[in-house]
Amino acid sequence: MKVISTISELQSRIKSLNLSPVGFVPTMGALHKGHLSLVERAIPDCPLIIVSIFVNPTQFNDKNDLKNYPRTLDSDLEMLDTVLRQADIVFTPSVEEMYPAEDKRVFRFGNLDNVMEALHRPGHFNGVAQIVSRFFEIIKPDIAIFGLKDFQQLAVIKEMVRQTRDKVKIVGSPIIREADGLAMSSRNMLLEPEIRKNAPIIYKTIKQASSMIREKDIPEIKSFVKGSIENAENFELIYFDIVDELELKPVTKKTKMNAGKKYYGCIAVKAGKIRLIDNIEIGLD
Ligand code: AMP
Repeated sequence: MKVISTISELQSRIKSLNLSPVGFVPTMGALHKGHLSLVERAIPDCPLIIVSIFVNPTQFNDKNDLKNYPRTLDSDLEMLDTVLRQADIVFTPSVEEMYPAEDKRVFRFGNLDNVMEALHRPGHFNGVAQIVSRFFEIIKPDIAIFGLKDFQQLAVIKEMVRQTRDKVKIVGSPIIREADGLAMSSRNMLLEPEIRKNAPIIYKTIKQASSMIREKDIPEIKSFVKGSIENAENFELIYFDIVDELELKPVTKKTKMNAGKKYYGCIAVKAGKIRLIDNIEIGLD
């Protein structure tokens, strides 16, 4: 693999390699096996893969979160070296390289902007769209892989691509978990030991919620989730919503669920000082 940090070098390298399809995996670093699974998903289809490592300031609505976000470039490169091939590229641009001037673009995502993460992190998805569209313009990938872990982000990116009529194919890849069920996340390394010990309650709770759908209605399931999460010391539920896969409209009653659609239970939790998200498919049958 080759590590490149300027746009001009990246573009001339992509051009001279002349390989296609080009796969793209955007990350903010502090890599774990979840990130590597996205690369592995791209390998069979893409003779050239570009992995970006860039902590994007415009998607952080909380300055402290941006400051404390883990940065582990050396070990990130070691991990990528175990999966990437000779031609593949790790792109590590600076903030100045990505944003030579302030990015003032405003994206509109309709309902996707009015639910869950969007309500609690104002401006977050606009920042995500700014950086991902900028990467798409620079790299012009054929395929881009995103984790289902960030369920709403994946829906937002698909909508952005629909609006811009970009030809890139967006692929969602499954959530990779620790042995105890906690969804892998760069933020897990920031958890205090006691909080980390109790963090598997998040997945355990949504798994139970997903099996409750047969017997219980949605308000009962939501109150079960709140009780189960807040039973753990220093854990606070930010939201738990059951939404359809495409529009992400929260459903309030089981009778409003449609057998032909896919639904997901999406959760955000404050675990000590750290915000964690997870989700699970909720099947009606
Ligand atoms: P991040 O570095 O957190 O911005 O994540 C970069 C990409 O990795 C996003 O598409 C995430 O959805 C994906 N990702 C993060 N954690 C996981 C996980 N546990 N399993 C699968 N994909 C993940």
